[in-house]
Amino acid sequence: MSSFLRLTDLAARGALAGKQVFIRADLNVPQDDAGRITEDTRIRASLPCIRTALEAGAAVMVTSHLGRPTEGEPKPEDSLAPVAARIAELLGRPVPLKTNWVDGGVAVAPGELVVLENCRLNRGEKKNDPALARKMAALCDVFVNDAFGTAHRAEATTYGIAEFAPLACAGPLLAAEIDALTQALAAPARPLVAIVAGSKVSTKLAILQTLAAKVDRLIVGGGIANTFLLGAGLPIGKSLAEPALLGEARAVGEAMRARGADVPVPVDVVTAKEFKADAAATVKPVAAVEADDLILDIGPKTAATLAEMLKSAGTIVWNGPVGVFEFDAFAAGTETIARAIAASKAFSIAGGGDTLAAIAKYGIEKDIGYISTGGGAFLEMLEGKTLPAIEILERRARDPQGS
Ligand code: ADP
Ligand code: MG
Repeated sequence: MSSFLRLTDLAARGALAGKQVFIRADLNVPQDDAGRITEDTRIRASLPCIRTALEAGAAVMVTSHLGRPTEGEPKPEDSLAPVAARIAELLGRPVPLKTNWVDGGVAVAPGELVVLENCRLNRGEKKNDPALARKMAALCDVFVNDAFGTAHRAEATTYGIAEFAPLACAGPLLAAEIDALTQALAAPARPLVAIVAGSKVSTKLAILQTLAAKVDRLIVGGGIANTFLLGAGLPIGKSLAEPALLGEARAVGEAMRARGADVPVPVDVVTAKEFKADAAATVKPVAAVEADDLILDIGPKTAATLAEMLKSAGTIVWNGPVGVFEFDAFAAGTETIARAIAASKAFSIAGGGDTLAAIAKYGIEKDIGYISTGGGAFLEMLEGKTLPAIEILERRARDPQGS
């Protein structure tokens, strides 16, 4: 269990009544050209934190980044105005938007909620400027980080403010992410099976290396499996692979074998001659891959064997589709894996942009133990890194006076 203060504990202790509470949320939602919100999952996911603070009698400020603004140069499309309007709609109460909040100050009464304009418009936000962070910290009694998606970055609203605020704690969403990852990786029910797939070894090499020291089985798929096949001396034709990383891939396999664990490589594959949605798909044993073939999915035998392994797992960590699941002819492997995870009694955790798209495609959200919304932060946790935003909350819990 990670040791940081939690908003829910402070609320239960009555420690928030009448306090100024500053929430750093992740409200970075997609918008269309007219600025309309096209998908509001992140706003909805942030409501429990906001509600907890309001119901505990706090005066609540919430901010987030939105898009990629230039610091100090506000443009209309950078505004959190549509987000404030959506929160107002969802909570059924007025939610004013406050601009120039760092220097202008914020007046908010207990039981009220204001949205503070896009925090990445402030000069010094991304570089975690201490002068900016101190001004932000001076606005509040309690700082709450509920933005797991930016926890791998040390910025003024994710790090510096947590150093200088009187109290710093984790919001419910951030705490849930850390708890799920801790359950999966720190003291997992065994066997612990990880599926690391997707397009490239280079983007996930650190994850493969870290997991190789922890997991009982490391299932590889996609372009990553192709590189492992190449390492095993098998033909892969024109498939996506990274020959420059063959040595690293072999070392991962050796590290696993040295622990009596293994990295099963596909025995059969689905190939095409072209990378196209309507390309003809051919199932073949991996040894029969031709020089002009592209491996675009694992084959049915491989998928069935892997599904069987997932059935008996105690914990499953999943990142990366095992094939080009966007093309229906090459989606069967990913679907089989997804359904096996859904059916397994194991505690499962999944994350990654395309992995979430696959989970949505097969409608298995409810059957996954925990779906991380973290993207880059989730991947860095799998790499075994301590995320800066978590590190500072833990330090403040050990040493409440801070710096
Ligand atoms: P995530 O976003 O979940 O971390 P990645 O971005 O690493 O996953 O990889 C997902 C992409 O990998 C998908 O777009 C998928 O089409 C692609 N992919 C999977 N298998 C293959 C393959 N054999 N050849 C080429 N691309 C693949
Ligand atoms: Mg991706």
